[in-house]
Amino acid sequence: MDWMVMPQVGSCQLVPLLSSGLTGPIEINKPVGSGPLARNQADDVRVIQQALNQVTLKRVAGGPVPPLAVDGICGPKTKAAISRFQQVQLKIFDGVIEPNKKTIIKLNEIIDPVSDADLRIRLQLALPLVRLAIGAALRDLQAVISNGPATTGPAAVASDRLNRHFRLNTLSALDQSTTRIDLFGTFTRFNTVISNPEVFNINVNDEFDLNKSDPQIALTTLQGFFEEGVVDPKTKRRRDRIHLGLGFFAPRVSAEFGSFIILHELAHFIGRANGQDIDDFGKGWFDDFFVRGLPAAERLSNADSYAGFAHECRVNSSAKPPFVTTAPGNARR
Ligand SMILES: [Zn+2]
Repeated sequence: MDWMVMPQVGSCQLVPLLSSGLTGPIEINKPVGSGPLARNQADDVRVIQQALNQVTLKRVAGGPVPPLAVDGICGPKTKAAISRFQQVQLKIFDGVIEPNKKTIIKLNEIIDPVSDADLRIRLQLALPLVRLAIGAALRDLQAVISNGPATTGPAAVASDRLNRHFRLNTLSALDQSTTRIDLFGTFTRFNTVISNPEVFNINVNDEFDLNKSDPQIALTTLQGFFEEGVVDPKTKRRRDRIHLGLGFFAPRVSAEFGSFIILHELAHFIGRANGQDIDDFGKGWFDDFFVRGLPAAERLSNADSYAGFAHECRVNSSAKPPFVTTAPGNARR
């Protein structure tokens, strides 16, 4: 069983002020603090200075007293505050805060813990968009299956989308036709899991769980859903869940981005109607660097190709969404 991981994609945005405590986990782009790893970019330093001050404001041990000036400069006081926080909270002494590592996870646990209520709120925002995307993908596929690849109208629009995301036009006419039916079957499986979970006696919210100490966005198993109830002998955990990490709750993960992430993970979770796994051959939009060269056979087993196609069907635009970035896949060819 392979674990599939959606990495932290996209460049990080400057995190807004933490005064409300409702802004989501903090993120930095490069290490902050002392030593050779530290880059101390001003935006990152400001995020850390604000976060350390929040520790003090929340009366948790290890925060700077008095609070730091939030100036984006990693001077002696900020460096000392980082070391003190690490010593008190983590018993580590390297003096540097790296993206997605122990110290920033600890800071997030203190200043803005993610709860099961946050999970429900994020899912309530993203799942309606996921359902709409799956419905739109099925409508597009239905249009081509009923009419064949027409030159005008909805079937033509749908064919163009299938050609860009899955390169169906590189297959023989017979293979195009069987593949369209397979895709329809695959998106029907998506739809069943998301829209009629009672058929399988499951609760959609229960299919997602939250790992509060995992800095990744999300992960799941290949064909997780259709191996429902399998227990991993090592971890003793059921393997049919989509795990959402702390990254899913970052401020930059909008409902739109969340819906794309869930479509991507659902592809791994559900697999193709023909029984093949959906893996990661290349991440990104259909014409992005790591996707551009993939042949039809790989795109038809590529999670971002499914997420991209369904997203485009929903928003009715081929423009690449700002949160999609390209990265190499990790599938075994
Ligand atoms: Zn993936």
